[in-house]
Amino acid sequence: MSLDQPDFDTRAVRAGTLRSEFHEHSEALFLTSSFVFDSAAQAAARFAGEDEGFVYSRFANPTVRMFEQRLAALEGGEDCLATSSGMAAILSTCLATLRTGDHVLCGASVFGATTQLFSTLLARFGIEVTYVRGSDAQAWRDAVRPNTRLMYCESPSNPLMELVDLEAFAAAGRDAGALTVVDNCLCTPALQQPLRFGVDVVIHSATKSIDGQGRVLGGAIVGRRAFIRDTVLPVLRTAGPSLSPFNAWVLLKGLETLSLRLRAQSASAAGLARFLEANPAIERVYYPGLESHPQHALARRQQQAAGAVLSFDLRGPADDLRRRAWRAIDATSLMSITANLGDTRTTITHPASTTHSRLSAQQRQQAGIGEGLVRIAVGLEAVADLQRDLASALDAAG
Ligand SMILES: *Cc1c(COP(=O)(O)O)cnc(C)c1O
Repeated sequence: MSLDQPDFDTRAVRAGTLRSEFHEHSEALFLTSSFVFDSAAQAAARFAGEDEGFVYSRFANPTVRMFEQRLAALEGGEDCLATSSGMAAILSTCLATLRTGDHVLCGASVFGATTQLFSTLLARFGIEVTYVRGSDAQAWRDAVRPNTRLMYCESPSNPLMELVDLEAFAAAGRDAGALTVVDNCLCTPALQQPLRFGVDVVIHSATKSIDGQGRVLGGAIVGRRAFIRDTVLPVLRTAGPSLSPFNAWVLLKGLETLSLRLRAQSASAAGLARFLEANPAIERVYYPGLESHPQHALARRQQQAAGAVLSFDLRGPADDLRRRAWRAIDATSLMSITANLGDTRTTITHPASTTHSRLSAQQRQQAGIGEGLVRIAVGLEAVADLQRDLASALDAAG
């Protein structure tokens, strides 16, 4: 691609492409674990890093490289490394940057497995974590300690759609001398590019919207070239959480339609959010695209659209909320009951009894995850059909 500064949509289908000697138009799938050298001397040079070229797919693979280069181009990052899952990307970033005695600041409402990673796994290695209310910009600064090495957040959070002001977050990290990391899974680069706000590193679970059709697991780390090459790559090469070339090929194709899908899903989610807000069975709708959202202005400043995920609280007596939420979920016919999100098919979840069931009742209450809370990740069905489906499901729930 030689056009100067191509638009996002152009980069999504053109950036990062590598062609083999056969000049294939569609990106090739290189299912090979290793690569052959012309000579023993070339093998030695490759292993020494003196000769650019592929060695072994745990280190790099052409199909994986295409995915990495394209995602880096979309995030506006200098470089990217792919991993076998989103959690592998998070763990690898931690392994590459943290050591015993370090302290981490983490948004209080990040993905459940991320909390487990910090609180349980990394705690065993003497790394301490403090959780911060992500939307409170001052709270990040107040929680900094002399040994704070990493600051980690998601924006918007899932399922309550709380935003972190990424510019303020990045500035707090710079002042603290800590690496700032944003899990950009929910927005994807189609709707938000955290690096533009001064954040150091973007993490992805490519499993979600980047795949977009619920097929494969994958993850990625995007950031400055020196950080990716000198700090992260040695860890990945040694620890081996590599992305399969097959999965990379699926994800590469997913990137091509990412912005089309997210724009369509955001428009549908906004329609559904407004519809729910007007429904008497609903107490509250959580969606940054609504004017009633407390951070609506920040969402407009920071995101290109409000995204595919929304949640709502059912109205009614507390002791009956779980039963009614389950009834509403069971009564939908177009929504898949699954915790995955970012799919072409709409999914519906009861966070209190699934994604957040490992928390105690008190922790859930503190986190705002009520028994009447339902999360929807909007797919590509006709929004009118989704509305009809939800309307009858809410009727059935009583
Ligand atoms: C799913 C998810 C992850 C973990 O990704 P996997 O690919 O399942 O390992 C991390 N962060 C967020 C926000 C997620 O939704």
